[in-house]
Amino acid sequence: MNILISFTLSFLVALSASCSFAAQAAENGDHSPRVLASVHPLALIAASVVAPENIEVLVPAGMTPHDFSLRPSDIDVIQNADIIVWAGPESEPYLAGFAKRWPDKVWINAAKEGKRLYQQDPALIGDEARNDPHWWFSVAVARQLQHRLAEQLEVDPAAFDQSLDQAVQDAHETLAPVRDRGFFVFHRAYDHWVYSMGLNMKGAFTLSPEQKPGLRTLQEMRQQLQRGDVVCVFSEPEFSPAMVDRLVDGVQVGREELDPMAMQIPLSADGYPNLLKDMAERAYRCLSAVDDKAATALDNTVYEGGDDGHHHHHGHAVEEHADDEHAHDEHEHEGDAHEEHAHEGHSDDDHSDHDDHADEHADEHDEGGFFSRLLK
Ligand SMILES: [Zn+2]
Repeated sequence: MNILISFTLSFLVALSASCSFAAQAAENGDHSPRVLASVHPLALIAASVVAPENIEVLVPAGMTPHDFSLRPSDIDVIQNADIIVWAGPESEPYLAGFAKRWPDKVWINAAKEGKRLYQQDPALIGDEARNDPHWWFSVAVARQLQHRLAEQLEVDPAAFDQSLDQAVQDAHETLAPVRDRGFFVFHRAYDHWVYSMGLNMKGAFTLSPEQKPGLRTLQEMRQQLQRGDVVCVFSEPEFSPAMVDRLVDGVQVGREELDPMAMQIPLSADGYPNLLKDMAERAYRCLSAVDDKAATALDNTVYEGGDDGHHHHHGHAVEEHADDEHAHDEHEHEGDAHEEHAHEGHSDDDHSDHDDHADEHADEHDEGGFFSRLLK
C-alpha cells in the first residue's frame, strides 16, 4: 500500500514536472527560455519572473494592438519563442492563428486567465471591468500571469507576490485622499486599473483610439466638467490632446497623461510595481490639481441640468455605477461594443449607428455648434 502511494506520488510529480518548460529544457539540455510578450505592459509583468534579456516584445513602441498588424519578421520572432504571453484573441487577433498552429509552445493568455479568475470569484476582476481587453492593468491578472510563468520556469513566486502586494498597498495609500474624485480617461483602456484601485472614473472620450467620440458623449462630459463632478482629464501620448484642450476650455481641471502601453516604464524586474507606482502618482497629481468641487464653469451655454445632488462625491465608482442606472447601462453597452469591435471587426458599423443616433439627439442641444466644432 505504502509502496503504491509513493509510486503514484512520484509518478504524479514527474508528470507535472514534465509539463513545465523548465523540465523540458532540462531534459533536452536546452537554452534558457525565450519569452515573447505581445505588448510592453505584459513584458513588465513577465520581467518580474524572467530576465529582461530573455524577453522580446512584439508590438513596437508607438503602436498599440488597435493599430498593429504582423510583419513577416514578426513570424520568426513568434516561431523562436518558447513561451508567449499575450492578451487573448479579442485584443490580439493576429496571434490567435499562431496559438493554434504552434500548440507545443506555452501560450499564456491574459484574457483566459482573467475570465477564469472572474469565474472563481467575480470580485477579483469586477463586473464593470470584465469586458475591458486591456487585462494587464488588472492586479489580479498580473499576479496570475506571474504565477503561470513561475510554474513554467519552476521558480518560487513568493517574492513576486510580495513586491506586488507592496506596490498595490503603496498605490492605495497614494490614492486614498483622491479616491472619490471624478475623472475622464482618453480611451477606454483603464477599467481594470480603476477597479483594482477603487477609483471614480466618470467616462472616456472614446472606446478605442481610432474612433471619434459621439456628440452626445462630449456634451455629457462637458456638463460633468462644468458641474465639478470631474476634476481631472487624462490624455494619451500617442494622440493629440487638441480635442481634450477644447473640451476643458474655460473649466479648471487637472491634466495628466496616461499611456496604456506603459512605454515610460523601462523593462526590469521591478517594472510592473513601478508602473503601479507611476500611475498612482500621475492620478494623484491630476486629481488633486484643483480643489474638490472647485471646477468653475465660465461657459454656461450648454449647461442645463439642475443639481440633483446625486453626482457629488460619495463612494467609489462601483457604488456610483450601481445606483445610477443610466450610467450603468451605458457602461455595459460600451463594454460590449468594445469587445465586439476588437473581436469581430464588423462592429464599426454597429458603433457608428450608435453614434449617429446619439448625434441626432445631441444636435438639438448643440448650442452655437460648440460640440460640432470640438469634433473638427
Ligand atoms: Zn486600447
